[in-house]
Order: sequence, then structure tokens, then C-alpha cells
Amino acid sequence: MTARVLVVDDVLHNVKLLEAKLRSEYFDVLTAMNGVDALKIIEAEHPDIILLDVMMPGMDGFEVCRRVKENPTISHIPIIMVTALDQPKDRITGLEAGADDFLTKPIQDLPLFARVKSLVRLKVLMDELRVRDSTGKAFAGDAALDGSASIKLDDAKVLVIEDYERVANRISGYLEDTAAQIDLDDAESGEITTSNLDQYDLFIISLSLRQADGLRLCSMIRSSEITRHTPILVLIDDGDNDRLIQAMEIGVTDYVNRPIDGNELVARVKSQIRHKRFADYLRGKMQKNMEMAVTDSVTNLYNRHFLSTHLDNIFSSENEKPTNVSLLMLDIDFFKIVNDTYGHASGDEVLEEFSKRISSNMRSIDLVARYGGEEFTVIMPETDAEFALFIAERLRRTICDKPFEISGSAEPINITVSIGASIVSEECNTKEKLLAAADKGLYKAKETGRNKVCNISFP
Ligand code: GH3
Ligand code: MG
Ligand code: MG
Repeated sequence: MTARVLVVDDVLHNVKLLEAKLRSEYFDVLTAMNGVDALKIIEAEHPDIILLDVMMPGMDGFEVCRRVKENPTISHIPIIMVTALDQPKDRITGLEAGADDFLTKPIQDLPLFARVKSLVRLKVLMDELRVRDSTGKAFAGDAALDGSASIKLDDAKVLVIEDYERVANRISGYLEDTAAQIDLDDAESGEITTSNLDQYDLFIISLSLRQADGLRLCSMIRSSEITRHTPILVLIDDGDNDRLIQAMEIGVTDYVNRPIDGNELVARVKSQIRHKRFADYLRGKMQKNMEMAVTDSVTNLYNRHFLSTHLDNIFSSENEKPTNVSLLMLDIDFFKIVNDTYGHASGDEVLEEFSKRISSNMRSIDLVARYGGEEFTVIMPETDAEFALFIAERLRRTICDKPFEISGSAEPINITVSIGASIVSEECNTKEKLLAAADKGLYKAKETGRNKVCNISFP
């Protein structure tokens, strides 16, 4: 994992020291020695992460942080504030300014690399999500998108896994104002006993459990499908570097040293929950975009665009030559009359029910798409001509055997469908030819009385 890190500090010695440390771990390093220069570099270079000293003459670190987080084109860049050890208040101020994490001076190697790598990992994920989000333009004006304080935290849920009751209660107390629900689990049986783990925004896990191996619990949470995106913050004895390294390797997102500093814990918890919510938000948005791009909203079937891409893949030179791929083109008979008689909304209902009947009659390897208004396409891999006709006939009967019940009509209405079939062969060897052949079959079915299956290309 490599990344470009901008180091900002007004003391040359500090800059050089951090630069050397980071370079030794193969990070690219940019440097600035005051807030104004830092902002210029950030805007021009878009580094992956910023290590920002708080105490600087002129514009201090808080102000730089605030300005970065206010600017939508750079606000997604994570910032680690570097504060003095004896100024715990600075951490709070930093987080309020929108900082993503903080380190205390003098900076030790392990915490430095742990924090930087954890944030780089997060940023890689976020960048990926941002790129994939096709409505990228909407980002700029989107309130949730500065990735900082505007994400709501007030209904956050945290699970604390700690078997020292006193400590567990103290943590609960610290987080009282930060999370809406704090559950405790003592992992007495060696396992997490709490159910519905997917409801939590954060797990806080002690690495000094008496009955269970905290690292194993972390690894379990990471590998489970429902919790793999949930942040984990571990509580670790100061100086237990071996376990800290192991924890980071497992994918633990953050840590707090014992004895626990309440302010630090609260600050880190807030920042973890904020990151999680932001990532969830982007993921949800992306999911929706993807679905919208490939499916049709009336029928929930794949749309024509998806069908076309799928056919391209089937005929792509990278794949084996397709054999026994059949295609059906379906067109509802006299559908215009349905619309004219019962109204367009009833027509939509028929389309919905029609889609359901077709879909539930197909195997999972078949692909059903809405080709156009009342035209549908089915692609059936591993289906020879005989079987394709058998399926087509079954689909035809599925539609005509049982009248459609719709809200716009007291009486169920009779619907029939005409179907054209085609199959990939030596002659029929492109997407266009396969579709055209099925279309010809469909035309023939319409011509010769409707409610039937026809083909013309079959060998
Ligand atoms: P044929 O048997 O020859 O296929 O006759 P038809 O009436 O089904 O064919 P035609 O192509 O003349 O009319 C198709 C109708 O389908 C016209 C159009 O308004 C209607 N239609 C297309 N898309 C939708 C839709 O999404 N909802 C509704 N309700 N109707 C639609
Ligand atoms: Mg029709
Ligand atoms: Mg039509």
C-alpha cells in the first residue's frame, strides 16, 4: 500500500524526521512549513493523507483543517492532527475542525504507521466508491459529503466487549453522550454472545479478555459478511506493540491505549462512526445507481442495455465460442387494447404480473430482460433447440392459462403472448443475427394467429 502523504510542520527538524520515517515505509512525501503553503499544495496535488501540526505561527493547524473540510473538492482527504501530549483539549478542537485522527508528539513509529495505513485503507475504499458513483456531480452540493461533522451520530450503536465490569461501565459512561445505545458483552463463553451484530456502528474490543482471545474475535468480525465493514476499536496495553501490529494486520481500524483516556476514546469513537456512516452512505448510493442503470423500474427485470451488454459478453472473443445458447423474444398480444380498455395503470399491472410469471418459470442461469414496452427477451444458456421450444411453449401457457387479475377490472382479463425463438449456430453467430432471427420468429407468430411459438432459424 503506497500513498502520498503531505507533512505540514513549521519546524524543519520535525518535517525531515517524519519525511524519513514515511519514506522508509515507501510512502511518497510532500512537505509544507506553514498553513498557507499547505493549502496551496493540497489544492494542487490532492495528497492521499495530511499530517498536520497544530501549533504553527500565522495560520494554525485547526484553521488549515477547517478550510480543507469546507472545500468540497478536497474535503475527502483525511487529516491527522499532530498535537502535544499535554494538550488533550487540542484533540477535541481538532476533531471539531473535522480532523480524522490525531497523533501526539513525540511521534512514535508504530502509532504513526498504524494511523496512516488505516486512513489510507479507508481512503482507497472511499475513492473507489466515489469513482463508481456515476452521479459524481452531485457530490459537490451534498451535505453528507464533507465526510465530517455533518454526518449524524445521534442514533449510533456501539458494542463493548470487555470482561472487567468496572472498565466496561466506565466506557459506557464516557460514551453516554456520543452513542444512543451502548451494549456490553463479556464474551465469557469465549465467544461474542450478543446477537444481531449487523446493527452496530462500532465494536470496542478489549485485547485483555480473560475468557476469550480478543484478536480472534476481531478476526471473526472482519471475516463475517454482515460485519466486515464495521469499524473495530481495540483497547490495548500501552507498549504491547506485537499485538498492535497483529491487530492492524487483521484489519482493526483503531486503538486506544490503557489506561483509557476518556476524551481520546470519545474522539476516536466519533471519528470511527462518522467514517462508517459515510462509507455506508456511499455504498448505498452506489448500489442504487447500479440497480437503476441495469434494471427496469416497472418490472424489476434487466433492461435492454443490460441485455445488450450481456449478449456482447456471450459473443466476446475472449470467451469460448457459445454453443446451445437460445434466445426467446416475447411480445404481448393486443396490449394496446388492454391500455385502451382498462387504462395505462392497469396496463402496468399486467406488465408486472407478466414479468413475475415469466421470471418464476426460468432457471437462475437464464436471463430475463424487458426489451421494450411490452416486449421481453429471455436468454437461455445450455439450452438446445428442442428444449428452447419446450420452455417457450411452457411460457406461452403460463400466460394464457390463467387470466390476469387487475385492480382496474372486476373480471380477470385474458392475456396471450407470441414468442419467437432463435439459437446460436454457425450462421447465427452474432448478437444482431440472434436477435433478428428471434424477431422474425415473433413476426411469424403474430402473422399466423398470435398466442403461439415460432422459429425460422432452427436447424
Ligand atoms: P400486437 O399483438 O401486434 O403486439 O399488438 P399490440 O397492441 O400489443 O402492439 P402495439 O405495438 O401496437 O402496442 C403496444 C402497446 O404497448 C402500445 C403502448 O402504449 C403500450 N405500452 C408500451 N409500454 C408500456 C408501459 O410501460 N405501460 C403500459 N401500460 N403500456 C405500455
Ligand atoms: Mg404487442
Ligand atoms: Mg410490440
